[in-house]
Amino acid sequence: MTTKTQTQTGLAGFLCEVTEEPVTFQECLACAQRGAPGCPMMPAVLHDIMNSIRDPEYADNMAKQAGAEVGFSVTELIGCPRQHVLKKKNPYWEKPSSMYRMAFGSGYHAALAQYPSGIKEQTLTWKFTFLGKSVLLAGTPDFIEASPNGWHIVDYKETGNPPFGHKVPICVHCDLDVYKGDDGLMCPNCGALNPRSSAVARVYRPPQARSSHVSQVNLYALLIAKNAALLEQKHGAKASGFSGAEVVYLSPKTPVRCDVRLDRETTLALLKVRLTALLSPGLPPVLNEADELWRCDYCPVRAHCEQAQCGPVGKAAITEHEE
Ligand code: SF4
Ligand code: SF4
Repeated sequence: MTTKTQTQTGLAGFLCEVTEEPVTFQECLACAQRGAPGCPMMPAVLHDIMNSIRDPEYADNMAKQAGAEVGFSVTELIGCPRQHVLKKKNPYWEKPSSMYRMAFGSGYHAALAQYPSGIKEQTLTWKFTFLGKSVLLAGTPDFIEASPNGWHIVDYKETGNPPFGHKVPICVHCDLDVYKGDDGLMCPNCGALNPRSSAVARVYRPPQARSSHVSQVNLYALLIAKNAALLEQKHGAKASGFSGAEVVYLSPKTPVRCDVRLDRETTLALLKVRLTALLSPGLPPVLNEADELWRCDYCPVRAHCEQAQCGPVGKAAITEHEE
């Protein structure tokens, strides 16, 4: 088992579930072994969480081996760039409960990797130059498969809260979603619509993958395209283009499959924006996209972020702005 001691920067230990005080990994494990009254953590669970902690230098180490100056994993690229930089500059602590789901998920990932077909958990890299730096991008799709129609990519996400499909009202003239405005149902083209009129129909929208997961799978598609020779040489798999991609949300009740549209241009643009934020001097800006603000609620370096910002961030910043 790898245990970590407090360091100047990076994950320094756990934040105790009971006292909310920082403790070292070993102190926490020892406390659990003594019974830890009032705490949900138990020794075997803590042991698994500690073993699931990814080396924060993982991508940089791969970059060094490949002769690049700096490395990023796909997971790092789809997260908050400011958080990534702050984590490298400051010590931080996380509650074991907030790391539990990741450790829990890796167990089921390992079980699914036993499926004999396809290519499972093959790490793919792409070295390129950006802003004068030699960069290595690394990513490990859960499952890829070559078919006559092209590559198919699948990524798994464990969650107790998978997306679900629902019926939405649309305007039959424009095929656009209608929304509730001050004057009732509104079509972006036709204006106010009577909800009982035949202009409004209800159609089923299947569950949608979350935006960061869509980006993740799209970045994997870039990596697969760059690694065609490796995939053929190592796995004997060859395909031209892509037949599709999906994110599968593994909930305790049932898997929920969400098709993902692959969009190379948008993904290259995202890659440039994220790398610019990560490689530029100074701290990247705080998140301000509405569907990303949830990250701030779980961010272990939020205090450092708010200190540097001299004010609240996340949903709290938006609320303050609106008041
Ligand atoms: S086992 Fe629970 S109570 Fe004990 S230090 Fe760890 S988190 Fe805190
Ligand atoms: S608090 Fe939000 S904006 Fe700040 S580093 Fe964390 S995730 Fe990023």
